[in-house]
Amino acid sequence: MTPDHRSESLMRLMLSLRQAGVTDKRVLTAMESVPRDVFVDRAFKDRSWEDRPLPIACGQTISQPSIVAVMTEALNVTPRCKVLEIGAGSGYQTAILARLARRVYAIERHRPLVRLARERLEGLGIHNVTIRTGDGTRGWPEQAPFDRILVAAAADDAPRMLLDQLRPGGIMVVPVGQSDEVQQLIKIEKTEDGLDYTVLSDVLFVPLIEGMPEENGP
Ligand code: SAH
Repeated sequence: MTPDHRSESLMRLMLSLRQAGVTDKRVLTAMESVPRDVFVDRAFKDRSWEDRPLPIACGQTISQPSIVAVMTEALNVTPRCKVLEIGAGSGYQTAILARLARRVYAIERHRPLVRLARERLEGLGIHNVTIRTGDGTRGWPEQAPFDRILVAAAADDAPRMLLDQLRPGGIMVVPVGQSDEVQQLIKIEKTEDGLDYTVLSDVLFVPLIEGMPEENGP
């Protein structure tokens, strides 16, 4: 892709984000600064700048950029935030969060995806991320509490263990619903009195799966 073609594709993508209702300057700047093609597999490189999800290894997908932006905006990440991300996949959303937060802890259940994401983040000079292989439904108790939690796979309900690891005043964004039906993107705010739920939009995510896949090996 020529530099001209690339900047034109990026401009078109930024327009799609605005059309999706994203207005937060910090989120738009972060989206502009992370090269999505780095996180896309070779076979789909020339489609990196389209506002679409694309297949990645292990039968998973890199999320649609406008959804990444909408979720990030809803999370209201500030430079002091310690963020937990569940379902890091390609590491693309992780990179965006890392631009906005103090520190990001990311969990992905497929080991090959974790290896690739780690390499790509390091290649971009992003050092405020710790990413590990594991079952994200359990969260990361050793690092809790978190100011923000982003879940990038759909659960029937917001996982209890994750809500327990959210700091009072914290925000969680999670898609809920069955994987083969339309799901809803939910924002949950933890207050002193309990949990406030806001429905943001209809979405379609891969399922949040408990436990670990066999192909991870020993
Ligand atoms: N934001 C990522 C989305 C990846 S798709 C990106 O843009 O690349 C969602 C990811 O969640 C998949 O990679 C899937 O393997 C992962 N996932 C599903 N259940 C999980 C669990 N229990 N723990 C950790 N990761 C999980």
